[in-house]
Amino acid sequence: MAHIALPEPDQGTLARRAEILAGLAAAVGADRVIGDEDGRRAYETDALTAYRRMPLAVVLPRTTEEVASVLRYCSRNSIKVVPRGAGTSLAGGALPGEDTVVVCITKLNRVLEIDYENRAARVEAGITNLAISAAVSERGFFYAPDPSSQLACTLAGNIAMNSGGAHCLKYGVTTNNILGLRMVMMDGEIVDLGGQHLDAPGYDLLALVVGSEGQFGIVTEATVRILRAAEGARPLLMGFASAEAAGSAVAAIMSSGIIPVAIEYMDKPAIHICEEFSKAGYPMDVEALLIVEVEGSETEIADLIERIVAIVAPFKPQSMKVSQSAAESARIWRGRKSAFGAIGRISEYYCMDGTIPLGRLPEVLARITEICAHHALRVANIFHAGDGNLHPLILYDANDPEQSSRAELAGAEILKLCVEVGGCLTGEHGVGIEKRDLMRVQFSDKDLALQMSIKTVFDPQWLLNTAKVFPLDGRPPVISEAA
Ligand SMILES: Cc1cc2nc3c(=O)[nH]c(=O)nc-3n(C[C@H](O)[C@H](O)[C@H](O)COP(=O)(O)OP(=O)(O)OC[C@H]3O[C@@H](n4cnc5c(N)ncnc54)[C@H](O)[C@@H]3O)c2cc1C
Repeated sequence: MAHIALPEPDQGTLARRAEILAGLAAAVGADRVIGDEDGRRAYETDALTAYRRMPLAVVLPRTTEEVASVLRYCSRNSIKVVPRGAGTSLAGGALPGEDTVVVCITKLNRVLEIDYENRAARVEAGITNLAISAAVSERGFFYAPDPSSQLACTLAGNIAMNSGGAHCLKYGVTTNNILGLRMVMMDGEIVDLGGQHLDAPGYDLLALVVGSEGQFGIVTEATVRILRAAEGARPLLMGFASAEAAGSAVAAIMSSGIIPVAIEYMDKPAIHICEEFSKAGYPMDVEALLIVEVEGSETEIADLIERIVAIVAPFKPQSMKVSQSAAESARIWRGRKSAFGAIGRISEYYCMDGTIPLGRLPEVLARITEICAHHALRVANIFHAGDGNLHPLILYDANDPEQSSRAELAGAEILKLCVEVGGCLTGEHGVGIEKRDLMRVQFSDKDLALQMSIKTVFDPQWLLNTAKVFPLDGRPPVISEAA
């Protein structure tokens, strides 16, 4: 898939490497700077491993002020910067260029303040997603967005990609759970956006920054909403004879007014691969599986399950199993959350991430099957069904360039299909380099020009994560003429 063009390395910048390393060391201390080849290699890719580029240098700041010093130095010397968290982006968001300095914020990982009265926690942005819930679990609280990568990925990465997860159906994605943040602008200025309150006068810049894919500044702190965990929760496994029946069951549950905590979908290939890997107890003789989780008191859970069972009855579920214990629930979720890893064990995969209106689910699944069959590729579908956020995983042989190109073609066709049916190019993984060249499928040149002009306000020199999100042939000089 390496045929997506990346900007050529800037030879002039490469020649200045020793000078830049010295400049960075002067800004933050030599012990925070990685310049040797072996050290830099660890940062040459993210979870979109088909693409690799060795960065010029890597910096590991420990404070907001150190981030500010690095950015001030880079800005004054017109050096490009790629912010990085744990490097789990599936869209190539953290991929460096050979002319870039990677600023990795995983050392900023402390919990700064927990305010149970206001249901908020202030944390450094390099903390892992799961560590936030761990810090407040003692008092029965949790941080809701739960990407499957939550053991490793950072809050900063979640903010940049507006990440979601299985349980975001009820509680919303990252943008719905961030109250405020501290960000270092490219010129080194430190700004605070939002706060511990619900609303603020002026433009909602906080909302603009969440999902800005590391192009506006480097986030170093955030105040997140923490929620009181429900008394109990229980997943329900429902197997169906067809994608159509499962899709219709999802639509029926959602239109009934019940909002489960999660509705996850797996097709037959996904069920088999995950079951083999995790022994979660999934039914093996069905075409489609829904994991529906409800929560509340025992009485509420029993009532919700009874109502859901009645709602899906017309779609003739072939199997129905309610989790009977906390251990069984954990097994069911471990199976779902380790799905990408399970599939990765048997094949290289290209994970697509598009969103569609729920009502089009059966039709879209049928067309995904057709697209992949046309390109002679296998596909496994696992996704957040309640949100209409699809994750077809296209299996391919990474050692076969022709097959890799076919996988990429099939992926592009699937994303175009999502837009065609009224959905969009991404659900939660962001655009990165992966979908950069498809942005025109969704946006007009005018739309893109407007979005780029907003980036220019935050980053006038276009130094922050510039190779991402926007098609390379529409960069600011051209765009400002078009605008
Ligand atoms: C197995 C697996 C499962 C996954 N499951 C999910 C899922 O369920 N839901 C989901 O939404 N995603 C999922 N992802 C994708 C990924 O984990 C998320 O996009 C995550 O938010 C990335 O966080 P990170 O710390 O790894 O960021 P990185 O990959 O390091 O960076 C991601 C983006 O954030 C930017 N960034 C990083 N730090 C900063 C900062 N301090 N300031 C500004 N910008 C910054 C980077 O420039 C880049 O654009 C999954 C990935 C894997 C590998």
